[in-house]
Amino acid sequence: MGNGILFVLSGPSGVGKGTVLEKLMEDYNGVSYSVSVTTRKPRSGEIDGEDYFFVSEEEFKKMKKNGDFIESARVHGNCYGTPKKFVDRKISKGEDIILEIDIQGAVQVREKYPDAVYIFLIPPSLEELENRLNKRGSEDSEAKTLRLKNAKSELQEVHKYDYEILNDNLEDAVEDLKYIIEEEKKRRDKNDY
Ligand code: ADP
Ligand code: 5GP
Repeated sequence: MGNGILFVLSGPSGVGKGTVLEKLMEDYNGVSYSVSVTTRKPRSGEIDGEDYFFVSEEEFKKMKKNGDFIESARVHGNCYGTPKKFVDRKISKGEDIILEIDIQGAVQVREKYPDAVYIFLIPPSLEELENRLNKRGSEDSEAKTLRLKNAKSELQEVHKYDYEILNDNLEDAVEDLKYIIEEEKKRRDKNDY
């Protein structure tokens, strides 16, 4: 059986990665979402095992030492990691999978999965990014300031990615993502003999 495709979606905090992915998954089952592990505290409405696997710093350290992650990084002060078992199982079954991870994580993934497809979501402007973080209202002012500061350096890294998608109109961004996924599937099918 052929290998599944690994898609990696990155972008600054508040650009709309979660929103775009949620909308994509509503009526599209061409990719599975890999749920990450984090030491961040759950936001109101977030569900353990669905949005993230929420763990303590100690549990995270143990998992890392155990080799349970394909990549992990400290982002905006918290630890995040991608579970290896889930990703490898899907990929080896020929199923396609999408990771929503930061740039440091994407760099680590590239070393292990050079054939992965890298997609970066960009905001219409830094002002709009700030509006979205404000609208989400999930960070205190210190955490928000850190995320906005990090956004400026993250946006300098877009060139490391294969595709960029502008998330201005949400429906358009979802369609763009779906289009990229479908085109990559077709491309790989063609080369698969
Ligand atoms: P991320 O996962 O990248 O941190 P979220 O998906 O949590 O970002 O989105 C941050 C905020 O921006 C949310 O309040 C969401 O409703 C809003 N948002 C996402 N996409 C758009 C869009 N295209 N236009 C306006 N608001 C958006
Ligand atoms: P948030 O706390 O807003 O959910 O996510 C903060 C940042 O962590 C985002 O840039 C998100 O892409 C990143 N992130 C989420 N899961 C992972 C992961 O498993 N690994 C890495 N490296 N980054 C992640």
